[in-house]
Amino acid sequence: MKITTRRSFFNYMALLGLVTFSATPLHAKGPKEAFKYQESPKDGKKCSDCIHFIAQSNECKVVRGSISPEGWCTLYNQK
Ligand code: SF4
Repeated sequence: MKITTRRSFFNYMALLGLVTFSATPLHAKGPKEAFKYQESPKDGKKCSDCIHFIAQSNECKVVRGSISPEGWCTLYNQK
């Protein structure tokens, strides 16, 4: 794309934004360390009681990796 005018520059930037946005998964998960994930419950709160926990696969909708039903992180949200 050849950028010759101010208008074409802004059109190009809008297109670039769309491409970048569409290439980023909306369900991107974060690393365990970022949310202080631990393998044990905290104050009685644990992954198996969290809305983000996927029991069938021991995964989480928002934290990457294998998740223990007895774990906990700062994104905990009770069912
Ligand atoms: S407590 Fe954290 S790691 Fe556990 S299921 Fe909820 S969001 Fe995922």
